[in-house]
Amino acid sequence: MSNFLEMRCPKCGDESSLDIAATVWIRVCEDGTDADTSRDGSHDYEPHSPARCGACGHCGTVREFELAGSATSASSKPVFIHLLHGRDDPAEDMSDWGYTGPVLGPFEAVHFTYKEHIRCIRDAATGDEIELSFHGDLLTHDGKFYGDFEICGGHDG
Ligand SMILES: [Zn+2]
Repeated sequence: MSNFLEMRCPKCGDESSLDIAATVWIRVCEDGTDADTSRDGSHDYEPHSPARCGACGHCGTVREFELAGSATSASSKPVFIHLLHGRDDPAEDMSDWGYTGPVLGPFEAVHFTYKEHIRCIRDAATGDEIELSFHGDLLTHDGKFYGDFEICGGHDG
């Protein structure tokens, strides 16, 4: 994202020329006013503060622009699967939690079919994906068995 609030114009998608109508405190000085001296130059705005897109002129609220931004970043954020509680033999009597497995990903999506198969889609356009399956109640990957796994969001870049 090109702005720190991850805002985006809900109408045209612009990220780089968005304005927020914020309340600015200005310090009254000898020769005028200074916005930087007052309260460390902080600006106050609320979710319902007016926001405007400089690219297309769309007017809305900060909240609307933030929602448009987070909707976009959520869909582009990759997913990782972290395999935990690993063991080499599914019959192994586990007295502890086992070892920590690899982090798989990034994936565009993780698709569960009943609870038998998990398709981890690297790239839906090219059909690049890996499939995980279960052995009893253990998830299998690369000849190892895992009692626990975690799906976590990644970070852009
Ligand atoms: Zn716009």
